[in-house]
Amino acid sequence: MKILIKNGQVIDPANNIDGICDILVEGAKISRVAKNIKADADNVIEARGKIVMPGIVDMHVHLREPGREDKETIATGTKAALKGGVTSLLAMPNTAPAMDCPENIRLLKNIIQRSGQANVFIAGAITKGRLGKELTDIASLKKEGVVAISDDGASVENAELMRQALLKAKDEGVLVISHCEDKSLSNSGVVNLGIISTRLGLRGMPAEAEYKRVERDIRLAEETKSRLHIAHVSTKESVQLIAAAKKKGINITAEVTPHHFSLVEEAVLGFDANMKMNPPLRSKSDTEALKECLKSGIIDAIASDHAPHTENEKEIEFQRAEFGTIGLETELAASITELVKTGLLGWIDLVKKLCLNPARILGIDKGTLDAGCGADIIIVSPDKEWIVTKEQFVSKSKNSAFLGKQLSGIVEYTICAGKIVYTNSL
Ligand SMILES: [Zn+2]
Repeated sequence: MKILIKNGQVIDPANNIDGICDILVEGAKISRVAKNIKADADNVIEARGKIVMPGIVDMHVHLREPGREDKETIATGTKAALKGGVTSLLAMPNTAPAMDCPENIRLLKNIIQRSGQANVFIAGAITKGRLGKELTDIASLKKEGVVAISDDGASVENAELMRQALLKAKDEGVLVISHCEDKSLSNSGVVNLGIISTRLGLRGMPAEAEYKRVERDIRLAEETKSRLHIAHVSTKESVQLIAAAKKKGINITAEVTPHHFSLVEEAVLGFDANMKMNPPLRSKSDTEALKECLKSGIIDAIASDHAPHTENEKEIEFQRAEFGTIGLETELAASITELVKTGLLGWIDLVKKLCLNPARILGIDKGTLDAGCGADIIIVSPDKEWIVTKEQFVSKSKNSAFLGKQLSGIVEYTICAGKIVYTNSL
């Protein structure tokens, strides 16, 4: 099977390509990227006026299987991923059971093999049951193929345990991903602490709850000379700490979510639980700082933190609703709308944040259009506008913070391992 993609605006930061090119796919691999390729192909896709880029590598996704198949499954989550242009994703370990031992990882790998439609990479837990009491056997998780460890959804409160995790992970060559939240400071908050929380009479999470933990984990990474990735950064103080640490040469990276750079805390004024997340939507000045750091390179990656929840868990009082928004099907369009259309980032920078950098951080062979590499490619109409509605989502849950928003950019084709696995029918 050969696919020839003609005349698209090809963006591939790994090879410094940003121009009109053709791509030839043979079997599961990219065989050539060049101008005016002449070849007999089974399928010729005319991509004039469209962006052709590597499939997105989303390093923060909750697929909920095993345990909460009513929210999402490997099958529905990966199908949603392909629709959103995500061909590779990192599944977070806060499933039931948690991904804290080889048996559970093997169980997950079997489900992925049976029903996964995109490339699914696995994050193991840092502590058993993600309870923060006892380290998992990181070496045995690594043997089962995990590329990262995280207690995401919770932070490892005990600093000594986190230090040991960083040291073990360094020995094993596994990335540690930190969910930075000091529970004694976040104080069961449901929104950002400030004027809005006071006005609504809702318990607020202060910025300190995040950045104090960012500060601690940077210090531990420095002391142990380990690699650390900070998930879903949301405050300006956090990015200042990350900037200073990078300047010092500490080996850290960071990600931001589309909802944290697109939306501000005022969005919770209508008590819409789809706007309830952890960390919470922050102030305008935080959002501006996140965008500046995307531009300057202080923030390396964009990840969705796709967090599906059923209607029963979202369409209830704000205080009781679950935290999180789905994101796989909107992350590209939200990024185009908020970052590229506004002139903040060029395409090559955006593709770095969505594809190349997350792949490099995870140490996986994805996120590029290298000849000889697996053919994970998406073709995007950058200017097509659409309004986000519940009906469009193929994700099992529909709890999106972007419902009703107008976004720019639609995935027309997703190619994964050389197969056309999604085409837009609109
Ligand atoms: Zn998460």
